[in-house]
Amino acid sequence: FPSRLPHVGTTIFTVMSALAAEHGAVNLGQGFPDFGCDPALTDAVTRAMQAGHNQYPPMAGVPALREAVAAKIEALHGRRYDAGAEITITAGATQAILTAILATVQPGDEVIVLEPCYDSYVPNIELAGGVVVRVPLTPGSFRPDFGKIAAAITPRTRLLIINTPHNPSATVWTAEDMRTLEELLAPTDVLLISDEVYEHMVFDGAEHQSAARFPGLAARAFIVSSFGKTFHVTGWKVGTVAAPAALTAEFRKVHQFNVFTVNTPMQHGLADYLRNPAPYLQLPAFYQAKRDLFRQGLEGSRLKLLPSTGSYFQCVDISAVSDLNEADFCQWLTREIGVAAIPLSAFYGGGFDQRVVRFCFAKKDETLRAALERLRRL
Ligand code: PMP
Ligand code: GLN
Repeated sequence: FPSRLPHVGTTIFTVMSALAAEHGAVNLGQGFPDFGCDPALTDAVTRAMQAGHNQYPPMAGVPALREAVAAKIEALHGRRYDAGAEITITAGATQAILTAILATVQPGDEVIVLEPCYDSYVPNIELAGGVVVRVPLTPGSFRPDFGKIAAAITPRTRLLIINTPHNPSATVWTAEDMRTLEELLAPTDVLLISDEVYEHMVFDGAEHQSAARFPGLAARAFIVSSFGKTFHVTGWKVGTVAAPAALTAEFRKVHQFNVFTVNTPMQHGLADYLRNPAPYLQLPAFYQAKRDLFRQGLEGSRLKLLPSTGSYFQCVDISAVSDLNEADFCQWLTREIGVAAIPLSAFYGGGFDQRVVRFCFAKKDETLRAALERLRRL
């Protein structure tokens, strides 16, 4: 039968993790922590299971968790979402993004993505029958080019997807960027997916500018986050979507026939754990220290460091080290040097190669040191 996704193979993250395992390489490719989560969180989940929270929860998510998420957004960004009608718990950000796309994009609708972009967006749009419109972030700085975004908007544009802090470039949108986008979208009906999974990983005193802070964006936005990133539990696959009631109603029509709902004990455990804001308020300092350790280790090497102001990624320019293209370089680095990385070309439809690769520093200090020891040989 004809493939729904004829151009799609296995994701680069799966490919590179398998290659790293095969060659015993230090895996700084796929983004996930190699350290455990706070035992208080697993204790809270265990208590929830022991208390009997093991059957289907309400379709939109456990009310206590939705309430905790609404309270957190209000405390951090000053916008009150209705926990009943505007917050939905999802099976990770991945499901949230797919569901938001399926709920809003009709065949032939145009959806704008800003490249480089996370690898699930484009196949998701294609599954919905949407037309992918690729707008590049400015090469080198990865800054949004609002002139290009404005030029890409047509009467067929249904949706724009943004992501800050940004995977893979580790850049962060400023309040001015968000205001500019708000003005640009004001005369349009374009909906927004704001992928904010790295919301708590922003460095050097910068602040995460959630779409929730900007009324003209919040009114049209599905704001997506992921407890996997925030609490070091990527395997739990629990995410959130905050969106105005009318958008949430359409979202839930798809959600209920997609996953219906998300595992119960994790939701209760997370609701309990969220009562203490310290773990996520401490996250910027926690990851900034890892970023600094990694960057300092590469100073003086021939890998040229790009800025990393948010997310748990560090990009480097490889052009002084190798003539290989990014993808071949990552294969070579894994096999010969013993460190896995991700080529940025994997985040572009056309495979654009700018001699930049991405490392993930969400790793134990000893893992980072082991990788640095190898990378300094370059
Ligand atoms: N969006 C971005 C930008 C991501 O980096 C990730 C995680 N790789 C996701 C979405 C998916 O998050 P989750 O694991 O919660 O599905
Ligand atoms: N988000 C992670 C990354 O960018 C990986 C997620 C995945 O493996 N799909 O590395």
